[in-house]
Amino acid sequence: MNDRDLFFRDLAQTSPFPLALEIARAEGLYMYDAQGRQYMDLISGISVSALGHRHPAVVSAVKEQADKYMHLMVYGEFVQSPQVRLAALLTKYLPGSLNQVYFVNSGSEAVEGALKLAKRYTGRHNMVSFYNAYHGSSHGSLSVTGNEDLKRAFRPLLPNVYHLPFGDIDALEAIDRNTACVIIEPIQGEAGAVTAEPAFFKELRKRCSDTGALLIMDEIQAGMGRTGKLWAFEHYGVEPDILTLAKGLGGGLPLGAFIADKNIMQSLTRDPVLGHITTFGGNAISAAASLACMTVITAEKLWEKAEELGNRFKEQLQHHEIKNINGKGLLLALEFDSFKQCKAIIDKCIEKGLITDWFLFASHCMRIAPPLIIGQEDVDRACTIILEAIEESNY
Ligand code: PMP
Repeated sequence: MNDRDLFFRDLAQTSPFPLALEIARAEGLYMYDAQGRQYMDLISGISVSALGHRHPAVVSAVKEQADKYMHLMVYGEFVQSPQVRLAALLTKYLPGSLNQVYFVNSGSEAVEGALKLAKRYTGRHNMVSFYNAYHGSSHGSLSVTGNEDLKRAFRPLLPNVYHLPFGDIDALEAIDRNTACVIIEPIQGEAGAVTAEPAFFKELRKRCSDTGALLIMDEIQAGMGRTGKLWAFEHYGVEPDILTLAKGLGGGLPLGAFIADKNIMQSLTRDPVLGHITTFGGNAISAAASLACMTVITAEKLWEKAEELGNRFKEQLQHHEIKNINGKGLLLALEFDSFKQCKAIIDKCIEKGLITDWFLFASHCMRIAPPLIIGQEDVDRACTIILEAIEESNY
């Protein structure tokens, strides 16, 4: 039986129509199938491959670490060099109040840890999040996700969760002294790369500080340079109390983190002790890959390139069928009239060797989130293909 048949027979699927592309190898911006056909990766495995595929710095860090040790002990018991050096690098590039890092394995887990930390530290129960936010698929992270279609079948979820409209300053009054935390994406990824005004984030920060609610920024998709700043919260001039990271953080390997001030973080060490536990969190190989990846991103200031190339996409993607281009840097959404139209154009792009897709909560929008190493000529090529695909698709 070939791999494709095994894929459909033995691998659990949650998508009724998986793409089922068979990729034999990947390098930089490109993937290749078994016949050697080249595909440009315009979505980075959903904002993961920040440095593209198999970046030499990441590959050699992984190999070197595999030659020393892999798993030694559960999280936080042994001193593991890649893990502590990565924590030091992250905190060096973060505001002073984000000075301790707890490593986990994924975005959902980072959100789980952040929510638990906020409840434990404040002693409060209520949580606030925003409509159309995506925070993960586990029970807690799904509870703060702002889309009822995704949640309905899995209720009951966490109680005491309140959703507010993203960007609505007046709605922030709902945050009060019973609120443990407010969780928000600085740029709502799955809603279609939706941004809000700095005034909204400033008021949100103020409301949280006034009421003692912790502000959690979920930069799992928007962080690590993708939006034109190293951290997306820099666009708004506000700092969170807790930051969650994953996806691009691992340089292609699974890694997540929640980051806070030591005083807040230390509340997980008592009543109960071991207030958050993970076996694999901060795995040595993932941490080594991440350290290499974050070293390149920070040394080369790749966020500056992301901003410049994001603008290049916006300038070239002018077409009457594109209703809007949302987002910042290399986290962009091309808005079309309908899912049908968007899907037809995406299918045409893939036929022409360009991989893209739509957004979970914005199926009429096409995703542009390439590796940050994409060059000017690649951007021009991608734009030509997208514009051709718009002309050539039937919908
Ligand atoms: N938060 C955000 C903003 C995300 O985009 C995602 C993943 N799409 C998650 C959380 C969950 O991450 P994971 O799939 O690694 O659990």
